[in-house]
Amino acid sequence: MTLLCNDLYRKKKNKGIPEHVILASGVHNRYWVLDVQDVTSTQSCTEKHLTITCSKTTESRETCILKDGWESTPVAVGDVVHLEGKCVSGLWTIDRDSGFLVLLPDLLISGTSIANSIRCMRRGVLGEMFKAFDGGSKQMLNGTIVHDIFQKAAMSSDFSPERIQTFAAEALRSPNYLGQMYSLKLTQADMRQEVEEYLPSLSEWANHYVHMSPQAGQKQLTLKLPSDGALSTQDATCSVTVTDYVDIEENMWCPRFGLKVKIDVTAGVRIHRRGRKPTERIVPLELKTGKESNSIEHRSQVILYTLMSSARRCDPEAGFLVYLKTGSLHPVVGNHMDRRELVKIRNSLAHHIGNSLVKVEGRSQMAPLPAIVSDKQACKYCPQKRNCAVYSRYCFSLFIAVNPQAFVQSESEHLSPVHLQYFSHWLLLCTLEALTMENKAGRRIIWLQTAQQREKSGGCVGNMQLAREVSVLSDGVYKHSFVRKEGDQTLTGLIVGDRIVVSDQDSVLIGLATGYVTEITISGVTCSLDKNLSKFSSNTVFRLDQDEGAGCLSTHLGNLSMLMENTPTSERLRQLIVEFRPPQFIDSLSSVLPRDAKDTVANILKDVFRRLNKPQKQAMKKVLLSKDYTLIVGIPGTGKTTTICTLVRILHACGFSVLLTSYTHSAVDNILLKLKRFKISFLRLGRAQKVHHDILPFTEESRRAEGIQTLEELEQLYSKEVRHMKFFIFYPCKCFVYVFYIYNNFKSLMFLFNKKYQQIPHSLTFFSHRRPLTT
Ligand code: SF4
Repeated sequence: MTLLCNDLYRKKKNKGIPEHVILASGVHNRYWVLDVQDVTSTQSCTEKHLTITCSKTTESRETCILKDGWESTPVAVGDVVHLEGKCVSGLWTIDRDSGFLVLLPDLLISGTSIANSIRCMRRGVLGEMFKAFDGGSKQMLNGTIVHDIFQKAAMSSDFSPERIQTFAAEALRSPNYLGQMYSLKLTQADMRQEVEEYLPSLSEWANHYVHMSPQAGQKQLTLKLPSDGALSTQDATCSVTVTDYVDIEENMWCPRFGLKVKIDVTAGVRIHRRGRKPTERIVPLELKTGKESNSIEHRSQVILYTLMSSARRCDPEAGFLVYLKTGSLHPVVGNHMDRRELVKIRNSLAHHIGNSLVKVEGRSQMAPLPAIVSDKQACKYCPQKRNCAVYSRYCFSLFIAVNPQAFVQSESEHLSPVHLQYFSHWLLLCTLEALTMENKAGRRIIWLQTAQQREKSGGCVGNMQLAREVSVLSDGVYKHSFVRKEGDQTLTGLIVGDRIVVSDQDSVLIGLATGYVTEITISGVTCSLDKNLSKFSSNTVFRLDQDEGAGCLSTHLGNLSMLMENTPTSERLRQLIVEFRPPQFIDSLSSVLPRDAKDTVANILKDVFRRLNKPQKQAMKKVLLSKDYTLIVGIPGTGKTTTICTLVRILHACGFSVLLTSYTHSAVDNILLKLKRFKISFLRLGRAQKVHHDILPFTEESRRAEGIQTLEELEQLYSKEVRHMKFFIFYPCKCFVYVFYIYNNFKSLMFLFNKKYQQIPHSLTFFSHRRPLTT
């Protein structure tokens, strides 16, 4: 089956170089593969010979020979590849000792996905597809908090027990973590107990490895860098001290190797060997809160970080695993052999992700995934188990008549063919949409087009320098003001509200920070970013690129996956959404409206009813009677906003809370601005940068800034607004249809949607699986 699919895919690719493909020479070279030949060399070895071009006219052609294992790379005609190594007279040789071929290099894959693919390639592919939030856990939150404490101690160069205790106390009352505790139903005491277990080890780690400590340099490690050449085991013994913290959560997009990552800590280290001059390196530190396993997955992550770091600065040749529970440090060498094997795994993963669609009898279908592994233990704890099983059931029904594995059966036996059909249908549509978006405006233009080139088509401003001091807006959000260094002063490439990514002008430091444009003046751009860029010298020149559509489909796919869960909640949703069970309604309004709210409701109705037409009144009544959902259809200008406002006022008068959501922030704010006039209290969720300025005092951020430090205070804030959360309103503007939906704790969920009908199920599950205030 796989052969058939690849054959079909190759046929399609043979048509020529599509318009959207960008080819280039130089550091970020991009070659189009014109031909692939399997060749047996004079030494009877198998090789793969590629005919490639970096010119759209295909006139200038080069050859690339893949050997010594590289010939197994699943490269095909019509693929784009990046080559590293030496090219002599148009001939590239990628072999055991030198060079890399990076397949589909503009597909940036995370180091974690590659590490996960070592034991199961299928898991890696599924992990790249279904990335949505899985609800988190106590362990995960603990890991995040302990990372945070370590990173703060590193940045302040103070790992003293008192300081560590202070950072821990601050973290445990920080709004972000309080929100997560609330979501996970944990108490601050619970979390304190978890976190405190780690604190002594952090100070101990610093005592052993931070150069200012009197005990630093006493621990012996074994580390042999590739540049050390031949070293005896005894000579490979060394001590390591950390001398500097260069960055925290360094964001790296590395299109030379098709990788991306956030490095926990980038540190300057000094390696001391007996009888030798100490060596200095800037290396990645990967923090781990789990078991001190020094596993192949952990080590692989670090090796990949060393590879990416080599594209940004001097090759570190090694990185370190820091196990925070024990305070130990494990060196990991990034030698060519390990990097080579990991790039090969990355290429296989890229091949599967890049070829996720096949044409069968002229129709697009999802391609089969890599095979299910036989390692039962790996499957038992695999976070992609459900997706793996559902995908397998779908593919078995399409392609192969083989008995599925036991877990496939148990994970999916609750699903009928209709559910599987639904899953595959929306998976296919989302994949097609992602492909279209990528071809239209993928991120690759950030590194494949110069700032000047991209400015011509909009979506970018280059030649920018930091104008003044960076200020802190909130935890992890920094205000930056940039001005144009030289050239055309008009800044037309961006608008306020754009999501942007900041890189250096020469595309060496790609993806330094992401954020939003908050203000544009004649001479400059102000934005809020997730990283503080003040550490760069005042001469550094940046480019600001619009970053469209980052990760938007992964949420849909995550929700689609949750819709297939074997839980009563998902079952009910499947009945309504997949099986189209008709919605239920109660008979009489008297059982909905609380007795003591009747007068208020009557006043509202008196006030608005003469201004509402008959369909609007019917719609409102139907919503109030709804047990499942209500769908309301109305072309633009038929009074949808008025209907919603009135409904919210009535529901509020009845003592219910309403969760109002939409595709856009402005649609939500339009309604809120009206409700504000009626003195309806509300809590505005979402990023403050996107909120209408008149609504800013009502944001969760503003309310929390009033001094919330405990979970009880946070709960009080939430319960004041949402204790009686009953209604859920989904409101895209310019819509044709409204839906009101009753669900579990909600009296009713209300959706409004337009022709993009497909968005309903995903939104439904998205909200149904979370506590409302943490979405
Ligand atoms: S369940 Fe098993 S086969 Fe499936 S993705 Fe996970 S590890 Fe791989």
